Amino acid sequence: MRRLFIAGNWKMNKTPDEASTFSAALKTKLADFTMVDIAVAPTNLALTGTIAKLKHSNIHVAAQNMHYANSGAFTGEISGEMIRSVGCEYVLIGHSERRHKFGETDEMIQQKVVAAFRSGLLPILCIGETLEQRQNGQAAQVNISQLESAMGGLSPDQAVSVTIAYEPVWAIGTGHTASPDQAQDIHSVIRSWLRKKFPDFVAKQLKIQYGGSVKPNNAAALLSQPDIDGALIGGASLNVDSFFQIIEIASNIKKEN
Ligand code: PEP
Repeated sequence: MRRLFIAGNWKMNKTPDEASTFSAALKTKLADFTMVDIAVAPTNLALTGTIAKLKHSNIHVAAQNMHYANSGAFTGEISGEMIRSVGCEYVLIGHSERRHKFGETDEMIQQKVVAAFRSGLLPILCIGETLEQRQNGQAAQVNISQLESAMGGLSPDQAVSVTIAYEPVWAIGTGHTASPDQAQDIHSVIRSWLRKKFPDFVAKQLKIQYGGSVKPNNAAALLSQPDIDGALIGGASLNVDSFFQIIEIASNIKKEN
């Protein structure tokens, strides 16, 4: 049985002080929540403080991005090694905003996945189609091609340690959530691809999150789908109460996998 995994992506929000205050409040609220995996992704500047505040809690910390080199002439960048050195466990790779606003290519994302493993970080690999691609009937094909590129060369043991976040670009920050059926369709395509590509245990154990305008009022329907194993949440993760409510909803969902 896959445990649900709820992660909050704070994007370029919250100063280090605000991140610490939020983390302290969340830690108190979630002290008894052991049935769901939880993570937050603050800005790099707030990683150390957030990790310190969440010590001895069940809440993990993710960076929002990384470079694929360990060090070098890459002004403004941060390496996986640096992120890991402050005790961070996860890293978001290929978020839609990185792909579409910062020009990250499939090749760069593949290199980042490899670099994350080299640094001892667990990748949360974001994939997703644009509205135009969906309207052209290309949603499944686009997601598979992003997966092939980012994960095709991984060993089964590496592959199973990846969390895939299916985030349709048209649903991120727009308030237009994919319907539970639309999300489940693509999650099941992803799971089938994993089944074909890797030994059985990978498709059985790997978690596939849905992301795109997840809120307390739509979380239950999405998270109840058989192949949706959690959520990557932007806007609703910025408020302790709404993030907590989604985690509470997740912890009440029982599934047979
Ligand atoms: C995201 O940034 O990964 C995201 C899903 O954002 P939102 O929940 O605001 O759509």
